[in-house]
Amino acid sequence: MPTLVLTLNAGSSSVKFALFEAADGAEAEPVRLASGQVEAIGGTARFQARAADGGGATDTAPEEGIPDHAAALARVLAWLEKVRPGASLAAVGHRIVHGGPDHAAPAVIDDALLADLERLVPLAPLHQPHNLAGVRAALGAFPEAVQVACFDTAFHRGHSALQQAFALPRRFFDAGVRRYGFHGLSYESVAARLQRDHPEVHAGRVIVAHLGNGASMAALAGGRSVASTMGFTALDGLVMGTRCGTIDPGVLLYLAQVEKLGWDAIAELLYEQSGLLGVSGISNDMRTLAASDDPAARFAIDMFIDRAARAAGDLAVVLEGLDALVFTAGIGENSAPVRAGIARRLAFLGAELDEAANAAGAAVFSMPSSRIRLLKVPTDEEAMIARHALRVVAPGTIAAAAR
Ligand code: ADP
Repeated sequence: MPTLVLTLNAGSSSVKFALFEAADGAEAEPVRLASGQVEAIGGTARFQARAADGGGATDTAPEEGIPDHAAALARVLAWLEKVRPGASLAAVGHRIVHGGPDHAAPAVIDDALLADLERLVPLAPLHQPHNLAGVRAALGAFPEAVQVACFDTAFHRGHSALQQAFALPRRFFDAGVRRYGFHGLSYESVAARLQRDHPEVHAGRVIVAHLGNGASMAALAGGRSVASTMGFTALDGLVMGTRCGTIDPGVLLYLAQVEKLGWDAIAELLYEQSGLLGVSGISNDMRTLAASDDPAARFAIDMFIDRAARAAGDLAVVLEGLDALVFTAGIGENSAPVRAGIARRLAFLGAELDEAANAAGAAVFSMPSSRIRLLKVPTDEEAMIARHALRVVAPGTIAAAAR
């Protein structure tokens, strides 16, 4: 019987899933069999699943009767029984946004851990409750599987106190008000690929730019995270699709005190109406902005590039130098102009862009003489979760090098 792992990423009205099989051999990566999602849970829900080889798309028509996460996972279970009759899952790996100060590694979910993660809801009120709803639903739908929590904060837990602390009275740090950093599963995925494909880069001082709808950068020294542009929440740092990134906290005081916005309205403004969408007034989507000749679209892209380049300078100071800048996620992997825009701003630090290689989408796009190597590496957070889950249930199947 093959060892199967399901990965789950549960949001407020969606559940993304992927099915992996443990590969033979200690060096092999888990093989993706299929992925899909249940969208618009509680509304006009849609179920989609697609085999990794491109075939086997399941119908994508709207479905009745998916009112909650439990019903969504019952639907995933029915799909699994159809595509893999009689199969049982060894593990379900969950993407959990917040592991708090204590969780630096994936953990098997039991009642005590669930209670612990519940206590972290105030630190990530927009994501953690939905992640945990996904866990509860999976406990019901897949009772035979080991449930493994994989935290987006865990990869950053080695940050020094200096990098974690805000300049607030100490009691706030003790109460958990500190910089955590997110996108950890993505950074771990990229670091594992660097270690495999570019070990000399992995060993050095690297900034990884995860540029997607959510965007952040992490500073890695020898493959370990030492700083992140994201802080207490996933709002901080770079300009994102709809999130503002770094902002003068005085603006929030002004919005509350002078504009009399309530906290819910401020949260909606900062999370949903800002970033590329707010600045351009057109779209949160980089492709749409890149295709537009509206000056407001150009301005939003310019700001995205400016803030990213400045953040790279900031993290280079933490690293005391920079050997490589690595781009990943939707924008990082696909937008040559954004990569070029950021790289050009770092020319004074020794980044020499190979324009042709970048435009062609080459994995390495710095000139041979460049002091800073420029790379793009695809991220695969789901495969990372599958690895973590397999490490727990079948430790012999995962490459030691990737631990
Ligand atoms: P998420 O954070 O939702 O996982 P992704 O990593 O998928 O986001 O990134 C989505 C972003 O990537 C969008 O802004 C999208 O426009 C952008 N993107 C995808 N392909 C391209 C492309 N070819 N050129 C420019 N931007 C792209």
